Amino acid sequence: MTETQTVRLAVLEGDGIGPEVVPVAVDVARRALEAHGVELATVELPFGAAAIELHGAPVPESTLDALSGIELWLVGPHDSAAYPPPFRHPAPGAVMRKQFDLFANLRPARAVAGVPATAPDIDVLIVRENSEGLYADRNMAVGSGEFMPTPDVALSVGLITRAATERIAVEAFEAARRRRGHVTVVHKANVLRLTTGLFRDVCLQVSERYPDITVNTEHVDAMAALLVRRPADFDVVVTENLFGDILSDLAAELSGSLGLAASLNSSTDRAMAQAVHGAAPDIAGQGIANPIATILSVAMLLRWEGERRDSDALRAAADSIDGAVAHVLADGLATADLGGTASTGEFSSAVLAVL
Ligand code: ATP
Ligand code: MG
Repeated sequence: MTETQTVRLAVLEGDGIGPEVVPVAVDVARRALEAHGVELATVELPFGAAAIELHGAPVPESTLDALSGIELWLVGPHDSAAYPPPFRHPAPGAVMRKQFDLFANLRPARAVAGVPATAPDIDVLIVRENSEGLYADRNMAVGSGEFMPTPDVALSVGLITRAATERIAVEAFEAARRRRGHVTVVHKANVLRLTTGLFRDVCLQVSERYPDITVNTEHVDAMAALLVRRPADFDVVVTENLFGDILSDLAAELSGSLGLAASLNSSTDRAMAQAVHGAAPDIAGQGIANPIATILSVAMLLRWEGERRDSDALRAAADSIDGAVAHVLADGLATADLGGTASTGEFSSAVLAVL
């Protein structure tokens, strides 16, 4: 069967090590796609500190306009703390998340040969609700969900809605069907009874539509302990925003290093690949940044698109990227953050050679 064989990708390099690792991930994606008969068409868009200088905003209107016409994006890190004060808030990620309703944040953590892991048998996917929860900045319905009625009192509002919980639960159960068929719903309903209680209950209601998937629930504190004690018990973990942020860092470190941590932000009709790590200004410009998290994020993006198009070529390209990174690491090549001596360029050449 021949398929439509072009992938259009918006590329936003971002700050710090972004201009070092993002082009590597583009090269890797291009090589993997070409090997499977798919052409990659990229559109580079201004973003971050460079965009402030050129267009007067970290996410210029022209970039938002262009993004609305492109469904797949690869986005580098941003270092908004280093922007001139008027541009620090809202952070670029928040602007894009809100504008395009990127409600699902998928963060896998799996140990790989060649990188010592605290939990060598961990293989989890954290499905983090990305639009509301206990992160007040995402609570559009209540404005900025944090405020100070007096200079000595600060309040924060948590928001959980049935609609947002239902759509993230569907993401989690669908993901479990493609994985090992188990979902863990993480909440804290003994204390945050109404908010995280609603989250848990709606997830369990959605689970009734998935009789083929097993489900259990955990309190977030117990979950942190269990991820360390019995990581192999978990497959897909679905949770609200703040809990998901924390648990995904924990899972990433258990699997080896935050430097390997890939992530995908998605709505129903578009997806953004972006590594979990930040701009790493301390090592920017030295050619030593680890490109793996960005490379694996772009593999997630191609797999997401492969599911959407039902394209074996795209799924195979994604698998080949994961395989090539694993192969190079197993061979003992690693960047400085993983204890090795390879430069960004050496590592990327090795991955391209395998592909
Ligand atoms: P943010 O606030 O954007 O999440 P952060 O303060 O968490 O950023 P990072 O930019 O992620 O910080 O960097 C944390 C540490 O990890 C730094 O020492 C940085 O050099 C290192 N680091 C992050 N990403 C990489 C990478 N891809 N390769 C090598 N080292 C990295
Ligand atoms: Mg951070």
